[in-house]
Amino acid sequence: MNSDNSAMIRFNQVNKWYGRDHHVLKNISLEVKQGEVVVVCGPSGSGKSTLIRTINQLEPVNDGEIWVDGVQVNHPRTNINRLREEVGFVFQHFNLYPHLSVLQNITLAPVKVRKMSQADADQRGMELLERVGLSNKRDAYPSQLSGGQQQRVAIARGLAMQPKVMLFDEPTSALDPEMIGEVLKVMQNLAESGMTMMVVTHEMGFAREVADRVVFLDHGEILEQAAPAQFFNNPQCDRAQQFLRQVL
Ligand code: ADP
Ligand code: MG
Repeated sequence: MNSDNSAMIRFNQVNKWYGRDHHVLKNISLEVKQGEVVVVCGPSGSGKSTLIRTINQLEPVNDGEIWVDGVQVNHPRTNINRLREEVGFVFQHFNLYPHLSVLQNITLAPVKVRKMSQADADQRGMELLERVGLSNKRDAYPSQLSGGQQQRVAIARGLAMQPKVMLFDEPTSALDPEMIGEVLKVMQNLAESGMTMMVVTHEMGFAREVADRVVFLDHGEILEQAAPAQFFNNPQCDRAQQFLRQVL
């Protein structure tokens, strides 16, 4: 099945077009090992969201292979719903259910999909709320929370399914500046707990401190992949240098 068990996520020569002419992902080959944290950065429109969304098949690809924990996700016989249970996704906008309380947001999928008992789901949900620093908000509704708090609930909700991988697409870019730190802190704790993570972000401080590797995407192509110290101190290609001048 999978030639290398240590790769939690693997892209093998992946290409994607939007329509006929827009080649949005170009020969992507990339591996994320179990427990690794990979930050994807690059200019707006470079294909970062598309790339990360292909992992749970929110975006189909035209050719190549994508594997998650030994299962080829873009194989016609792969059960996409099953796959999505294993892959947590946190978006820029939190997408919490507005009519459910914080705890209900977190327990809904484990009860409905994983058939966990409500009592077990509640207990686990409270542990997760503790972990993201929001145990006092269990009965609040999303509209009663700040953006940063909502995003921390969204992370807890993702974790409630006990995913193998957590994907983040610009999780802090819709937040007021004073709330960015609290969300990054939760993500850092998650990284330190050993979660395999792929994170699209412009927060280069987070990348420097938390990432094992930084991937630089430009016009749908991986131009550079390196450890953060190497990427930030000594970027190899012109476009990465230019990008870093703009964001740092
Ligand atoms: P990024 O996240 O790096 O800003 P995206 O992956 O969102 O980049 O987009 C990459 C390119 O693909 C952009 O030029 C964007 O306009 C285009 N694009 C994104 N989604 C679609 C879509 N559903 N249909 C057509 N073009 C798209
Ligand atoms: Mg994007």
